Amino acid sequence: MKNTRVNVAIRVRPLLKAEIDRGETSTDLLSVNRKSNTISFKGNSAGKINKNYTFDKVIPSDATQEEVYEELDIQRYIKQVVDGYHATIFAYGQTGSGKTFTMEGYKYSNNGNSKGGLQAQIENGDNIGIVPRVISSIFSQIDENSSQSGHSFRIYCSFLQLYQEKILDLLNPNHSKKSAFQGTGLKLRWNKLDIYTVENLYNFECKSPEELMKYYHMGIKNKIMSTHNLNNASSRSHCVFTITCECTNPAKPDNVIVSKLQLVDLAGSERSNQTGVKDQMAKESIDINKSLFTLRQVITALTDSKSKDYIPYRESKLTCLLRQSLGGNSYSLMISCLTPNDKFCDENKSTLNYASRAS
Ligand code: ADP
Ligand code: MG
Repeated sequence: MKNTRVNVAIRVRPLLKAEIDRGETSTDLLSVNRKSNTISFKGNSAGKINKNYTFDKVIPSDATQEEVYEELDIQRYIKQVVDGYHATIFAYGQTGSGKTFTMEGYKYSNNGNSKGGLQAQIENGDNIGIVPRVISSIFSQIDENSSQSGHSFRIYCSFLQLYQEKILDLLNPNHSKKSAFQGTGLKLRWNKLDIYTVENLYNFECKSPEELMKYYHMGIKNKIMSTHNLNNASSRSHCVFTITCECTNPAKPDNVIVSKLQLVDLAGSERSNQTGVKDQMAKESIDINKSLFTLRQVITALTDSKSKDYIPYRESKLTCLLRQSLGGNSYSLMISCLTPNDKFCDENKSTLNYASRAS
């Protein structure tokens, strides 16, 4: 994959057993050409509208989690962060398209405490997603860098959920289901350098992959808990796991370089503006669409080399939160997830359009 500031990839998931059991189909509305990184899209079964989309990487439904990690060159983003750049990797797509599977993985989220530790899980479990793989390799990347440069490193992590423009700390030890979405949420502050910080967000130092994994796992548990009574609200919130890397050169101990890797599972991109949607859902939908719309505007402005204009970060909390790792010294990767299910033709079209405008 080319080493540009913003890369856009597509991943298509396979048709699930439950979908097959319901008699749902996957025909040739969506065809993937892995060699040319192209998706040919027929807008309907009459096959009339035919459009080709090309991306930096297109990953077909039979690809393993390991192939996804390799093909998207996730290691490159880890290296860049250890070298002092910021990076963001985010998963975009409608609910059910595979965002959480891609970021967290299946076995991991269902069986996070399995025996043999993280490395063994990765070796054995094909279903481990990007984040646990990043967690398992960032410390070795640091060791490698440190042995060459003599620099010393510290790693921290935070994990937040953004639901209806409210920021919730998934690593707050006092997190409880009851209080989760009550109150106003944490405050977002910014300084003169336009660096945004979340007030009172827990940021834990981690000395090993196991420790980092422990916090990630705790956050996921809290995410599941916080949305338990809210009619699947986890698909309507954005989750941001941030690994902060502090690098010190012993020759210049006062000059600490801080870089961030933000790993984001975005809210489902589907529109719930069909008739019959309740007020609460309608409001959520507006918030989600606004933040995803702003995210696209920001990315489009960043990828357009001619555009030196205003970048509308401040128009949504999501883009404020990602401000540092989207603009400036940073690299980002958007993984857009598609379902092969014919039923979701319109959603796929909207994801392809979103992704192609961002690339
Ligand atoms: P999202 O987070 O976008 O709502 P999920 O990641 O929860 O979607 O995926 C929806 C369902 O599809 C889950 O049951 C998940 O395990 C399954 N799934 C997603 N992607 C894949 C894949 N590449 N291979 C096998 N199953 C997948
Ligand atoms: Mg999900």
